[in-house]
Amino acid sequence: MNLPEQQNWRDFEAAHVWHPYASMLHPIPAYPVQRADGVCLELENGERLIDGMASWWCAIHGYNVPELNAAIEKQLRDMAHVMFGGLTHQPAAELARKLLEITPQNMNHLFFADSGSVAVEVAIKMALQYWQAQQRPEKNRLLTIRGGYHGDTFGAMSVCDPIGGMHHLFSGLLAEQFFSDAPTARSDEEWHDDQIASFASLIDAHQHEIAAVILEPIVQGAGGMRFYAPEFLRQVRALCDEYDVLLICDEIATGFGRTGKLFACEHADIQPDIMCIGKALTGGYMTLAATLCSARVCSGIHQNGSGVLMHGPTFMANPLACAVALASIDLLLASPWQQRVHAIEQQLQHELEPCRVLNSVADVRVKGAIGVIEMKQPIDVARMQQQLVAQGVWLRPFGRLLYAMPPYIISPAQLSRITTAMTGCARLD
Ligand SMILES: *Cc1c(COP(=O)(O)O)cnc(C)c1O
Repeated sequence: MNLPEQQNWRDFEAAHVWHPYASMLHPIPAYPVQRADGVCLELENGERLIDGMASWWCAIHGYNVPELNAAIEKQLRDMAHVMFGGLTHQPAAELARKLLEITPQNMNHLFFADSGSVAVEVAIKMALQYWQAQQRPEKNRLLTIRGGYHGDTFGAMSVCDPIGGMHHLFSGLLAEQFFSDAPTARSDEEWHDDQIASFASLIDAHQHEIAAVILEPIVQGAGGMRFYAPEFLRQVRALCDEYDVLLICDEIATGFGRTGKLFACEHADIQPDIMCIGKALTGGYMTLAATLCSARVCSGIHQNGSGVLMHGPTFMANPLACAVALASIDLLLASPWQQRVHAIEQQLQHELEPCRVLNSVADVRVKGAIGVIEMKQPIDVARMQQQLVAQGVWLRPFGRLLYAMPPYIISPAQLSRITTAMTGCARLD
């Protein structure tokens, strides 16, 4: 390839490197970040932005965190990486022990994956292999609720929302799954039993084909930032038991305190059979995810034949990632994270609520450290991002949603800067 000699790195990057869900032909300019510390991103020109995204919800402790830096540096002196096939190491064992301690009581085994989407693929494989081992290979489809997001690989895409997701691009290539209506009740106070009707009739009609239900507990993230009543999850758990269907909870977005509980299934006091975690697992430092399961699922996979779980990413259980994940969890649990998330929730509620009356605004909703303004019209992302950056704030709206999921260490004054920018943009639009 012939490249011009004197090209500024940004022009080069814009011409050759894809960004997420972006066109190479009409790239939306990306802001160059030089460094990050605390809750601030520092741009190349010296401008500092208060980060309301926590880098896609991962950086719960903010950036350049001394404890996390130290954990990586210490691990780096021993080894950055070794294969997990035939070798093992203490960081993986210690992290596994910690995860099995803090996740729902019945979680007993885990598989380290290298991204959330892969953790979802592994969860699907666990469910399919479980039913194959039970001599019930016809139980090979999934039931989920509309409005979900589970990742961008093919198995994960097949259970993303059929309209908001990528089904139209790959129709005929994605496994066909069952989609029930999502509940609209946001709390147990708003709950009516008709909210479960669509789900109940699908599981009743297709129980013999359904391997597992997969859903995001309580908060549906990238599929639309919607919240639903814990009662729905309790009834889903009961129906899965009644019809002999496994329940996969995708806690990749909700895990590690974001909704006010350490894991969102705690809101409903239920235990999944299989659980996916990722995103905030390493505090945003490295890519790492995991799929956990109960002793029943694990022994069920073994029931017939070897019980070999057929997956093995090259970088699974990367030691640097395991070491920083362990440090991140220790830091979280040692911090007053419940009070912090609760304070963020109260402040978001208080400061975003005035937007509800605006003509341009369809809804305002807050759950834990998640604040959402839903607009009536689709947002011009590039234009709104410019307005936000001009106010010293980093947010990444999508669709009709302007939302914040900040690091838990954000100060009230910094959070006010974010909500002021949000309400300002909602007013202008
Ligand atoms: C982000 C996300 C995924 C995908 O994780 P990646 O690391 O981007 O592959 C899956 N499920 C949920 C709920 C997510 O929020």
